[in-house]
Parts: sequence; structure tokens; C-alpha cells
Amino acid sequence: MIQPFYTSSAINRHGDFRNNEKFLNTIITEKDTKFIPFYNGKNLFIEINENINSVILNKFQLHDFFPNGIGGTIFLGVANDFNYVGIDLSSPNKKFDYWLKENNIIVDDLRKYGAILDDIEASFLALSNGMFYWHNTHKFCGSCGFQNFSTEGGFVMKCSNDKCAKSHFPRTDPAIITLISFQDKVLLGRSPRFPDCMYSTLAGFVEPGESLEQALEREVFEEVGIKVKNIKYFNSQPWPFPASLMLGFFAEAINDQMTIDYDEIEDAQWFSINELKSLQHPSIKGGFQLPRVDSIARRLVDTWINSFN
Ligand SMILES: [Zn+2]
Repeated sequence: MIQPFYTSSAINRHGDFRNNEKFLNTIITEKDTKFIPFYNGKNLFIEINENINSVILNKFQLHDFFPNGIGGTIFLGVANDFNYVGIDLSSPNKKFDYWLKENNIIVDDLRKYGAILDDIEASFLALSNGMFYWHNTHKFCGSCGFQNFSTEGGFVMKCSNDKCAKSHFPRTDPAIITLISFQDKVLLGRSPRFPDCMYSTLAGFVEPGESLEQALEREVFEEVGIKVKNIKYFNSQPWPFPASLMLGFFAEAINDQMTIDYDEIEDAQWFSINELKSLQHPSIKGGFQLPRVDSIARRLVDTWINSFN
């Protein structure tokens, strides 16, 4: 089994350090701490010798940009004896913006480079992105409307209203994703949101009170009118873009007669192994693309192809 992207096993999140105020206050002043910047929903990258690396800052650089102190930090964990801290640098700052330009820093979506980055850094970037998205969308208590404040290294947002004092925890939305097969072909579809020419496995969010299997059966039937059997769990993939956990399955179609709901998807087709390998399909003019290599959709397709070797 290939290790899913963004899940480096070299990382210890050290949940046990999150209540240690002294530790949390100390690490943001230490020279060895690695600060992972979050910048307006994106991350920072730099090209060195034709390789793309993530930009990680140290306390001296941060002090230079923010002489009055830094805010908005999240303790992400420890790897190879280094402490990693996420930092939100989205507030306007001329000096920092100038530094980005001067150093040809690339500001972009992690998914563009995730598959070629160092495993530990890509995992911390993904964690940091998911956490800051959650912080930015949970500034107020959903129960009483008072402001929340960040505590426990950023992993709890607590209501500032003494009478409420509710603790809010980071949210992850489960979604099923499935490769449907019928004999020697598989079903891939495309949503209008996809990059041009990309066809992928069917996916959808799990609703309250629904099992994963029920969600899968419902989504597949809604999108392509197909009933499935032999649902088998494959693997999962954190997808904090912004807040999903993808749960991958294989399933078999009862028959290959599709009824596509064009309100849900733009197109769906059955693909043979040769078509998947050649990226050519008789109904798709100019060929098609498979999902990006860092996605579980791609791992489902590749695993299915390899099962025939
Ligand atoms: Zn409240």
C-alpha cells in the first residue's frame, strides 16, 4: 500500500504538549522552530536548482517582518526534533510583500506541488491549511454568537462568553470516493468544477445518520443511476482543502446502463484499461486526463489498473 500524501509517519502531533503553555510560549521564541506560513489561503514555495521547496521561516525573519510580535500561531507538531508552528501571515504587511517579490517566492495552492514536496513539509502544510481555514471560519461561537479565542495550541476555539464557554474542535467532513467497475471497465465522470479534460472517480459528502456504504450507494445512484454491489474499503486520504477526509472504496456496478444527472455532473463514461493508459476515449475528443497524483482518486485508478498485471 502506497502511503497517502500529506500523512507523513515521521510527524508526531504531540497532542500532549497542547496544554503546556510554557512550552508553547517558549517554542515561538526559539531559533530552531520552523514556522510554516499560511498566506491568504495559499502557501509559499521557492524554486531552487529546478526543484520546488516550501518556504519555512525562522524567528529572525518573522521578527524582521513583525517587530511588534506575531499572532495567529498553531502548534502543528514535532518531526526530526524540530518543532513546527503554523503562522497566519495574511494581514497586509508591506515589508513581507516586498520580501516575497524580491525572493521570487511563489504563492500558490499546495495541491499544485504537494506530490513533489518533502513528505514532512507537505504534511505540515496540509495540516496548517486545514487548521487556519477552521480558525478563519470559526471566529464566533456557533451557539451564542460571542467571539471565540484560540487555545490548546490552536486545536480548540473557546467561546469568550463565560455563561456559554463552549469549546469548539477542528472539523473534518467525511466524503466517500469510489471507483465503480463493470467487468473489465471502470466508470469515471467529470464535474464542471474539474480542470479541463479531467475525469475522476465519483465522490460525495456523507450526510448525518448515514453509513459510508449508504452514502456511496446514494451518491452513485444520484449521479449516474447505477446500483452497486461488493463495496470494498480501500484507503483514506486527508484532503484539508479545505476540510475533507476522503474515504476510498471499490464497488461493482450491477449493470453498465448509466442515467446521468446533468445537474450533478457534466459527463461520465466507461473506460477500459487501454483507454486509461492511452488517455484516449472514443467519446472524448482530444483525449482526457486522470486526477492529480496526490489524490486518492488517482490511487484508486492506478490500483485497479495494477490489479490486472
Ligand atoms: Zn458561546
